[in-house]
Amino acid sequence: MTKSKENETSLSSVIVTGGAGFIGSAVVRGLIRNRVKNIIVVDSLTYAGNLKTLSNEKEYPGFIFENIDIRDAVKTKEVIDKHSPDAVMHLAAESHVDRSIDGPGLFMETNITGTYNLLEAIRSLNVKGKKTRFHHVSTDEVFGSLGSVGKFTEESPYKPNSPYSASKASSDHLVRSWGETFGLDIVISNCSNNYGPYQYPEKLIPLVIHRVLSKNPIPVYGKGDNVRDWLYVDDHADALIIVMEKGISGETYNIGGDSEMSNLDVIKTICSILDTKRKDSDIESYTKLIEFVSDRPGHDFRYAIDSTKIKEQLDWKPNHNFISGLNKTVDWYLNNQEWVLAVEGLAASQERKGLGEGK
Ligand code: NAD
Repeated sequence: MTKSKENETSLSSVIVTGGAGFIGSAVVRGLIRNRVKNIIVVDSLTYAGNLKTLSNEKEYPGFIFENIDIRDAVKTKEVIDKHSPDAVMHLAAESHVDRSIDGPGLFMETNITGTYNLLEAIRSLNVKGKKTRFHHVSTDEVFGSLGSVGKFTEESPYKPNSPYSASKASSDHLVRSWGETFGLDIVISNCSNNYGPYQYPEKLIPLVIHRVLSKNPIPVYGKGDNVRDWLYVDDHADALIIVMEKGISGETYNIGGDSEMSNLDVIKTICSILDTKRKDSDIESYTKLIEFVSDRPGHDFRYAIDSTKIKEQLDWKPNHNFISGLNKTVDWYLNNQEWVLAVEGLAASQERKGLGEGK
């Protein structure tokens, strides 16, 4: 968020679903910086949710934690009724593509039915006269895969390729239709790959850092030439708060970092940062740990985001480029190993998933 916007919010109560996760916790920190009076985290603490991630934020006077599973329609309605918030920022989701290949059912339940339960709960508040804004936090993966040129805009057609992206595309459509049909005040944002502190170590960047620090092989899917656009998580959180506060009802906003890089280049860059910051006399360079493994089924080749709309209409821009953000991220992981070592299922997080062998 730009400096001038800090402390200027008009919202007094915001529910953040998935607030104990990676991006949700960055949003909570952003809302605290903006002095939102009541910040209610709704999260069921799956393997990816962690209250240690919010250990400082829990001390904020208006912070409330609600351990609610959004798949439970009754409890979801109760928590929305109880807090009757000005806005709901909806981030709770199953978020790992590889897991969606091994077990798509949970993705359908949380990402689609969970979103439906929230929409219905807010619709009933609406009927009682409370106009709650609903912000659905989604991904650029709903647009499918790009070739070597072009970027996704807000007008790009939906063409999801994985069970994860199909579930997010479905929930985007539900949210849009609840706006059109029932008059809910909704906004949607679609963002590129995030990285930064507190990301569960099954995702590419923290996984590579963990592999280097434990001197284990670094897996590269296929040839590593798949390209992603990377955005530092705090820049995304700032964008989300701006969209939630200033976005036009019914509109969609694309959010990206203008930082395209192949997976192999990302991995080599992390290795070279760690070659400097954490030199190991036994290993000439951590790139020696790189090991090519079979590709992910249906692996999208390239994602790239055109963020012109949010930049021009809502005056947002990222504050980090990929190198500055990556250095900050590596430093954070080096200084917060106790958080990594305490995450639920650390050993399992390092196992290969997404070969389609699950049920
Ligand atoms: P994450 O996996 O780190 O966190 C998800 C959070 O949701 C966890 O705290 C988890 O406990 C909670 N949760 C999961 N199922 C739940 C349920 N049934 N009920 C209540 N809480 C539940 O995910 P993330 O990377 O922080 O992503 C957050 C959101 O942003 C997701 O909706 C994701 O689709 C979207 N997104 C992520 C990225 C990315 O690069 N990580 C990019 C664009 C969009």
